[in-house]
Amino acid sequence: MSTTIFESLESNVRSYCRSWPAVFETARGSRLHAEDGQGYLDFFSGAGALNYGHNEPDLKRALIEYLAADGVVHSLDTYTTAKRRFLSAFEEHVLRPRGLDHKVQFTGPTGTNSVEAALKLARLNTGRTGVVAFTNAFHGMTLGSLSVTGNAMKRNGAGVPLPFVTTAPYDGYLEDPSWGFSWLARTWADSSSGMERPAAVIVETVQGEGGLNAARAEWLRELETLCRGHGVLLIVDDVQAGCGRTGTFFSFEEAGITPDIVCLSKSISGYGLPMALVLLRPELDVWQPGQHNGTFRGNNAAFVTGTAALEKYWADGGTFERSVVERGRLLSEGLARVAALVEGATCRGRGLLAGVHFPDPDLAKRIAGAAYERNLLVETSGPQSEVLKAMPALNIPPEELHEGLEILLDATRAVLAGRCSHASARVESRERMSSASGY
Ligand SMILES: *Cc1c(COP(=O)(O)O)cnc(C)c1O
Repeated sequence: MSTTIFESLESNVRSYCRSWPAVFETARGSRLHAEDGQGYLDFFSGAGALNYGHNEPDLKRALIEYLAADGVVHSLDTYTTAKRRFLSAFEEHVLRPRGLDHKVQFTGPTGTNSVEAALKLARLNTGRTGVVAFTNAFHGMTLGSLSVTGNAMKRNGAGVPLPFVTTAPYDGYLEDPSWGFSWLARTWADSSSGMERPAAVIVETVQGEGGLNAARAEWLRELETLCRGHGVLLIVDDVQAGCGRTGTFFSFEEAGITPDIVCLSKSISGYGLPMALVLLRPELDVWQPGQHNGTFRGNNAAFVTGTAALEKYWADGGTFERSVVERGRLLSEGLARVAALVEGATCRGRGLLAGVHFPDPDLAKRIAGAAYERNLLVETSGPQSEVLKAMPALNIPPEELHEGLEILLDATRAVLAGRCSHASARVESRERMSSASGY
């Protein structure tokens, strides 16, 4: 039952295990079990990689059957029956019903790899170097993705400059919403503005890591119009918010926009197996063969579970989507009850990617800690981890959703009760808050 080997051998870079030091052994649906017999309810879902829960039985069966039949597991980008089935299912259940004629590019199997490919492709197509990204964005940890990521701590890990990117305010970042895109529109139209027209704008419709800021549909439509008007490509990074998280397969469907390029990863395999892809408008497909490759871009195990997920959840005439919307409603009601306990706390996010922002930046971390003590896994988000982030599986049984929300309420009450008896700690945390620089 020791954790010594992790602490002595594994790099200091490990992070989630510091908040959740349990040694997990088995998991099914929204429940995990640690080796010491403790059970945990999962409101984390592998940061969005487990939208259908752990070891979803139908996906598992498809995977076991494929492996038992000696199906090819690794194939680079050679043709396999598993890849054909995935592409056919993706076309039939995702692209065609949404009127999308995008082509599919498989990249190395991580979200950041799909972002790197998207940025390269935008630059190759336009011959321009610049990219516009938004405040508090998160797009991954490799250099190109970091260059469009806001967080200072993560950027500082690069050790080299992160050039060719301009940061613009995300929806709601500035107090005056009328500011909108006026600065971008003005500078792109003016050859003497000093700002060159970029190759692309990259955006998340909900900032999963950056504090669960959700862009309004009007704002996204205005961004699309602006980009189209200036020949700037629109990249939507749907790595976290996609695959049903917000209630529709793509998070941008509600806004009615059609991005030029879309990045998908986290839950595209449906099973927590590594997989990533880029969707690109056909006329953008200027790649030379092999110009962006990756040894694991043919992870057939992920194709198999990804196909099973599409066929089970996305071919049912919208029943699953409606159930996600309903669970999103239950989640936001529960989170509103948590927010009501704390003055100035506000709800954030969309669908099952939602949370509560607290004015005291320490509160979310302390509530997440108290939730862990009560056997609920829930994480924080935002530049100072000041947002409690609830991300249950899309198919979580309503009673487990309810159970988790009750634990969150209980944890919040316990933290608040503890805080009141430590008045000096409150003053200290307020001082820290006012001296924090943010970014
Ligand atoms: C997680 C995430 C990434 C990076 O994905 P990795 O698989 O960790 O490289 C990129 N963009 C968004 C929006 C993400 O949430």
